Formats: sequence, C-alpha cells, structure tokens
Amino acid sequence: MSASHNPSFVVTRFAPSPTGFLHIGNARTGLFSWLFARHHGGQALLRVEDTDKARSTQAAIDVILDGLQWLGLDWDGPAHFQSEFEPRHAEVAHQLIERGAAYRCYLTPEELKARRDKAQAERRPFRLVSEWRDRSEAGPEGVPSVIRLKAPREGETVIEDLVQGRVAVANAELDDFVLLRSDGSPTYMLAVVVDDHDMGVTHIIRGDDHLNNAFRQLAIIRAMGWPEPTYAHIPLIHGPDGAKLSKRHGALGVHDYRDMGILPEALFNYLLRLGWGHGDDEIISKDQAIAWFDLDHVGKSPSRFDMKKLESLNAHYIREADNERLAKLVAGQLDLTKADSDMLERAMPELKSRAHDLNQLAEGARFLFAKRPLAIDEGAAALLTADSRPLLRAAHDALGKVAAWEHDRLEEAVRLVAEQADVKLGKLAQPLRAALTGRSTSPGIFDVLVLLGQGESLARIADQMVEPNA
Ligand code: GLU
Repeated sequence: MSASHNPSFVVTRFAPSPTGFLHIGNARTGLFSWLFARHHGGQALLRVEDTDKARSTQAAIDVILDGLQWLGLDWDGPAHFQSEFEPRHAEVAHQLIERGAAYRCYLTPEELKARRDKAQAERRPFRLVSEWRDRSEAGPEGVPSVIRLKAPREGETVIEDLVQGRVAVANAELDDFVLLRSDGSPTYMLAVVVDDHDMGVTHIIRGDDHLNNAFRQLAIIRAMGWPEPTYAHIPLIHGPDGAKLSKRHGALGVHDYRDMGILPEALFNYLLRLGWGHGDDEIISKDQAIAWFDLDHVGKSPSRFDMKKLESLNAHYIREADNERLAKLVAGQLDLTKADSDMLERAMPELKSRAHDLNQLAEGARFLFAKRPLAIDEGAAALLTADSRPLLRAAHDALGKVAAWEHDRLEEAVRLVAEQADVKLGKLAQPLRAALTGRSTSPGIFDVLVLLGQGESLARIADQMVEPNA
C-alpha cells in the first residue's frame, strides 16, 4: 500500500519559473490551482522555481508576482523560493542513497556521449544502463559523480490523473535519471518532488507538458515512502490555428493583455472558460468560479485562444465597471487636470458602452479634452461640407439661445433646426458631431453637448462654420 494524503484536505501549488514574463497558459494553470484550493477551502501555495540563476532576476520574479496579483490571485502565506531549499534537495538525494534507491554514477560526459551516439547509430532509443547502479565499491578518485535514481525496471507505473484519466507507462521506459549534478545542484525532477512533499501539497495541477515527468517524480516519491499526490495535467492553450500557442500568434504574456486594455476580471473569466465549463455560462464572477470550479469539467483536448471572445468579455466587464475606477484607469493616457478628471468620470456611462478595451475607451474620451481648433479626422472632414455650414450656423444660433443646457432641451432645439431646414435629423447631427468631436463616431450628440458645456460647444461649432482657409 502506498502512503496517501488526508483526502479531506486540499493543498495546491502553482510553481512558475521566472522566464521574463507570465505566459497566459501558465497563468491559467495558476488560476486552476488557486480555484481548486479555494473551492475546497484548502490552501493555495505559490512556489517560484528560481533555480536557473541566470534567468531568475528580481525583475523576472516581479513580473510573475505582479501578474498574479493583477489577476486577483492571492496565495496562502508568502511565496516560497525553490533556491532556498537546495540544501534540503541534496539531503534527500543522500537519503535515497542510504535507502539503496539511488547511487553515485561516475560515467564521464564522454562515456555518456559515446553510448548515446552508439544507440543513435543502431537506431534504438537510448536508455542508460549504468554499471555503477549495482556496484558497492567507492568510485575512482578525482572523477566527478552525479547521483542517479535507481528507477524501477519491472512492471508499470499508473497514474489516475484527474483530467487525463488512467495513464500508464512501462517502467522499462524510465531511465536512471540524475537527481543531483556533479556540482551538487539538484535537478528539476528532484527539487520539485522534495518541495511538493515538504509543502504538504496534495494536488498537483499543472500543464500536460509535465505528464511524462510525473512518472519519474512518482518513482522518487515511492522510493522515499512519501504520500502520493493526486495529479491533474491540464491541456495547453493553442492558437486559433490549432498549433501550440507561441510568439507568432501574438501576445503571450499577462502584461501584454493588460497593456492592450483588458481588465483583469475579463482575463480571469476568459482563462477560466478556456478549458473549463459550467453549462452554457459565459459570464462567471470570481465568487461563482470558486463555488463551481472542479476538475471534472476540464476538457482533455487543448483549447484555442480566441481574441474576439476575450474582447467581447472585456467589453462586458467595461460596461459593468465602476465609472470612477475606469476614469482612473484611462486618466494616465490623457494627461488631465482635476476638472478634466471629473468630466471624464461624468462622461463614463456614455463612453464605456462603446469600448472593447481601455485604450479604445481613452481614445473615445480624447475629444472631450482636445484644444480648439480641433484636429479633424478624415471621417469628420468628409461630413463638414459646404452644405453643412448653413446648418451648423443655424444650430449655433439656436443653441446659443437655449437657457437650460440639458439633454432634452438640447434635443428639442436641434430637432427644430433640422425641421426648419427641412432635413433629416442625421443630416444635421453628423456635421455637428464632426464639429464637436473632430470625429465621425462618438457618444450621442446631445450627451456630447451636455458634457462639453455651452461655451465650449458653441466655440467648437463656430470653428467649423467658416470655410477652411477662408
Ligand atoms: N516550474 C515548472 C514550469 O514552470 C513547473 C513545475 C511543476 O509544475 O511541476 O514549467
């Protein structure tokens, strides 16, 4: 009988390696680990796998911590750092030797290469059989050694994976992999097992690119007689073309999406739905996710990243978001005074219904703060024709006389001008919009008038009443 964890308690971990960015696929793995723990009222732990010293700069670590925090994933206790546990990894490697489950191997890199080359020449898979596995005498003086696991050779190893189902490999496939390198540093395979054990991890939820590693890791766990964790290997994210998500598909990092103006709750919802489902529900809040999340509904096949879906979720969350928060989020792009910021917040209900991302939201707000005479874009220029000038003059006159600068009074006044000129409202509203905003699209024209105020509105209209360069 193998040892097992107390089934009523869940401890998960997310174990990212600092690579310079937080890959959205990894972020989804983190999200699933976090949700599984939160759903079961267990613990969600974070371990930064920082053993690659060249890559694990403070900046690379901060990118991960910052990205997770932005997504709203909080961890139980402070983050663990794998590099701090190196002495413990070495200790376990030595314990494995004492238990007769590992050995020092003195094969030199040249000897290993010769064997690998021979296997390749004979077109057979290379499986190391080290003569040091069963030797009891001490190795040659002065020759560096590594510590290898005595991997099981008979039978098979079976994993009942919560996502992949039953997966088995013949133990003959597992070689005597290295646990401790000749410089005394642990391999990933050893470090991950020791840390998961010492942190009391019960459920290992990670990308299915680690499924093959799980068999080797189990061999170490069994050799130590430790409780076996439950595994859940989730499929990777693919691009819209079905190939593994990579740079050529565009943005990969969580921060790229933040910079594109995606709200964290939209990315959270999107990543959750990518590979997991709850009926037909598309909009799922954090609390609902915690209440509903399980691993039974994680699909086995890779999901495809769909930017359009993410954008439409984002548009939804922007519409739902608090106006003050949105105004703060886009203010940085607009360089605003205090009075401008207040105006931005007041304009938000109109502005936010048209934006798919925060950058669009900022762009859509820019006209409010533009200095006269406005720069007129191409679409707006096409609306400011010779025909439109008399209409603008009439509107300027009528609006100058409006006593209460309110949406409905303004609508009455503008409609009356159109009627008197015998044109449809749109014929007047379009050049009016172009004059007031410099653009051909904007929030409703009466809202624009209210936001700009009487003085600024009249001045902007007046700027366009005369022929350019007249
Ligand atoms: N540090 C590994 C990675 O980023 C994950 C290790 C694991 O989850 O076991 O791929």
